[in-house]
Amino acid sequence: MEPKHIVIIGAGPAGLMAADVLSAAGMSVDIFEAKPSVGRKFLMAGKGGLNITHSEPMSDFIARYDQSDWLKPMVDEFDAKRIVAWMENLGVASFVGTSGRIFPTEMKAAPLLRRWLSSLKKRGVRVHCRHYWQGFTDDGSLRFTTLDGEKRVTPDATILALGGASWPSLGSDGTWVPILASKGVAISPLLPSNCGFKATWSPFMEAHLGKPLKNILGWVGDGEKSVSSGEAVLTTYGIEGGLLYTLSRPLREEVMAQGFATLYLDLLPHINETELVSRLAALGKQSTDNTWRKAGLEGVKAALIREGLPKNKWSDASSVSACVKKYPINLTGMQPIEEAISTAGGVMREALNEHLMLRAVPNVFCAGEMLDWDAPTGGYLLTGCFASGVFAANGVLKHLSSPTG
Ligand SMILES: Cc1cc2nc3c(=O)[nH]c(=O)nc-3n(C[C@H](O)[C@H](O)[C@H](O)COP(=O)(O)OP(=O)(O)OC[C@H]3O[C@@H](n4cnc5c(N)ncnc54)[C@H](O)[C@@H]3O)c2cc1C
Repeated sequence: MEPKHIVIIGAGPAGLMAADVLSAAGMSVDIFEAKPSVGRKFLMAGKGGLNITHSEPMSDFIARYDQSDWLKPMVDEFDAKRIVAWMENLGVASFVGTSGRIFPTEMKAAPLLRRWLSSLKKRGVRVHCRHYWQGFTDDGSLRFTTLDGEKRVTPDATILALGGASWPSLGSDGTWVPILASKGVAISPLLPSNCGFKATWSPFMEAHLGKPLKNILGWVGDGEKSVSSGEAVLTTYGIEGGLLYTLSRPLREEVMAQGFATLYLDLLPHINETELVSRLAALGKQSTDNTWRKAGLEGVKAALIREGLPKNKWSDASSVSACVKKYPINLTGMQPIEEAISTAGGVMREALNEHLMLRAVPNVFCAGEMLDWDAPTGGYLLTGCFASGVFAANGVLKHLSSPTG
């Protein structure tokens, strides 16, 4: 019997992983990609060290996703251990960093991508770059624009792995949204995630922009659900960095609901307030700078206190201490999606069946960041993309082998 013909559109981590599973199962696989080369965002993710997954226990791991119960069966099928084993199979060793994050030993994405593509090629996967998907023809074929004009393809099944809308120069530009919406697919608006936020600083802070705020704690609202430790950096437009990425979901929700969000920082989380008050007891006897420095308050942290606390309170230990332990920053918006690391929103869960097939468009499946889930950086994004790629591919196999497939 002829192998079934599967088309995957989008050659990012989700699409390539779907191709991996389907080619291993003996399917005839074509990947269509808009850009002149594949995996551009994946390569960009590797620039600062490719944090591919995380070693924490599954219960903690899965709780990082906003739609944990949706992602759970997917991540169960392709969890951190399987990602590490898959890399090893490709000859790429990995290590667990001190924070529990997992990286390929070479840190970059390029060596892994090279080996991955070569293994897919050996299995007969065909990659067609410069093929921009434009939607469906009236009879349900896939329509692409190419350098040689329009091309139509009619496979047995299709996996869309078109990404979100962040960093559109790398390929994923969200133009699939109106195409699928016109077919009646429910799509939650694409929004920036893992992004910087807008805040206004006085001219006094200019000298401190671009400098890191290290070892701080941040939270939103009463902090019950969303406390994060990490780093941030003040910028001309506001504030950015790992701490903000982790909190981007609750911050985004507040900004969307009320037009602003308040981020609270504990600038010295390793010292409790009573201890800090006693360390600041020399205020008034020694210079403010000296006393603050001895208490651990210098550089950007000291500048923030000067920015946020009236001058007549700088020598009042309780006021300084209260400001250090709960420093409010008024965030007035998010950075544009083009500058965000990832995209929240996308094809909604109810638009898909249990195999990730679109209910409104039979034989068309979806995977990766174009699905409506969100997670912080830390390896959770790539894991979600790999895992949903595996899951959609297995969904295609189950669907095609069923009597109605
Ligand atoms: C700077 C940066 C650093 C990051 N670092 C990390 C990290 O360390 N760890 C982590 O887990 N995640 C990281 N990420 C996020 C991660 O790279 C993405 O979540 C992941 O690449 C999304 O995979 P995807 O396959 O769903 O989509 P994409 O990687 O966006 O791939 C989608 C592909 O579809 C193609 N495409 C789109 N539309 C069409 C069309 N109409 N026709 C044909 N082709 C089309 C695009 O060209 C693209 O190649 C980072 C992202 C950025 C921007």
